[in-house]
Amino acid sequence: MHKSSSLLRQIPKVDELISHASLAGFASGAALTKTVRGVLDELRHDIRAGFVDALPCRDALAKTVANRVIGLQKPNLQRVINGTGIILHTNLGRAPLAEEALNAVYDAARDFSNLEYCIKKGERSSRHAHVEDLLTELTGADAAMVVNNNAAAVLLALSAIGQKDVIVSRGELVEIGGSFRVPDVLTQSGSRLVEVGTTNKTHASDYERAIESGSTGALLRVHTSNFIMSGFVAKPSLRELGDIAKKNSIPLIEDLGSGCIVNLANYGIYNQPVVSDSVKSGVDIVTFSGDKLLGGPQAGIIAGQATWIAKMKAHPLARAMRIDKLCLAALEATLRLYLTPETVVEKIPMLRMLCEPQDSLFNKAQILKQQLDASESGEITVITESSLAGGGAMPEENIASAAIAINAGISAQALERHFRMGPVPIIGRISRDRFILDVRTIGVEDFPYIAARLHEVKV
Ligand SMILES: *Cc1c(COP(=O)(O)O)cnc(C)c1O
Repeated sequence: MHKSSSLLRQIPKVDELISHASLAGFASGAALTKTVRGVLDELRHDIRAGFVDALPCRDALAKTVANRVIGLQKPNLQRVINGTGIILHTNLGRAPLAEEALNAVYDAARDFSNLEYCIKKGERSSRHAHVEDLLTELTGADAAMVVNNNAAAVLLALSAIGQKDVIVSRGELVEIGGSFRVPDVLTQSGSRLVEVGTTNKTHASDYERAIESGSTGALLRVHTSNFIMSGFVAKPSLRELGDIAKKNSIPLIEDLGSGCIVNLANYGIYNQPVVSDSVKSGVDIVTFSGDKLLGGPQAGIIAGQATWIAKMKAHPLARAMRIDKLCLAALEATLRLYLTPETVVEKIPMLRMLCEPQDSLFNKAQILKQQLDASESGEITVITESSLAGGGAMPEENIASAAIAINAGISAQALERHFRMGPVPIIGRISRDRFILDVRTIGVEDFPYIAARLHEVKV
């Protein structure tokens, strides 16, 4: 006790440390003062806890402060190399943008734009106008609008129903991740949840029986995304639901989640719902994400009947959820790429990665292996892997991929950390005590850097 109080007395004053010679290069100001205070507070705490035997010298304290200030000046949000094979990795930013989208963001960000201005008429217009025609062309819907993400799109669509009963199958009351839970979103919208059917089977007649004229506002179908049921399961087709909705003059809403604009069956990607199929089947309002299988920026797209879209555009929540101009620029450019179906897979990075066949990935893995072998720092094996689309898209589909497993004479954990902690973090994973990089999500231009990092491993 006696010793700690004497140590506490020796702690330098804030001003004294700020004026230490080695901190002279830093602009004095609130940030520097705050950092110095923080370092001294921690020291005080550690002394009281009995962790400190001798007070660090002034130079050492100043150095700690300097390192923290430099740390603050370095960007926090930074590029990483994704070696997980999961393309739509929510933790890693989901879909990288196409070149065309990047250029559009740059132009919209750097200058003024006609964001809400009609050049032809010389008057105010709506930001939705930039993408509405593209969306109706691509989805077959009458009208469309965009908000900042699909969670917002679902909330807005349900809110527009106007505090009525919304009928949902018990098999679709799912949690999508990041605390998006269908029952909670429904409650939040002011609607009342009416559950029908059972977890595994819900029939058209279950929906029909639950409808009460006047109090039922909509039928909701939810794509269960990251959750699959198999075996003794059943649900009515979209067309059956659409017919029931029409007969009762209520809308059928579908939360599609990923939402493919094009059918990717030619590329070996099956079972992905395509937005235009939903519209054709009689869905009145369909919502989906901009940064999942669409391969664009974060956005929530709502397509459907003009009367409903008009109601949503005018809803007070629409203003709170509105898409910002940078995402809108990226979205417009991405959607435009879909107008040329022959080149869309090649132009949108998300689709290019998703559709790359396994033999081509094996070649890619061989090239990476050669470059890593040349660094003579480990034992590299090319292995078969299965990638995931991610983002709740296609949970059931493991897409055959190729990867490399690295053994560098240190534990897989230490190797994982080494790759993660470099100037450009390389994120891989550990499987059966080996560090693995799936090449589906890595660009060949990053191979030399990965080899250089391997070479820096200290055994
Ligand atoms: C991903 C997903 C959401 C949430 O979409 P965000 O764009 O991430 O907000 C909602 N519903 C379903 C079915 C989803 O798959």
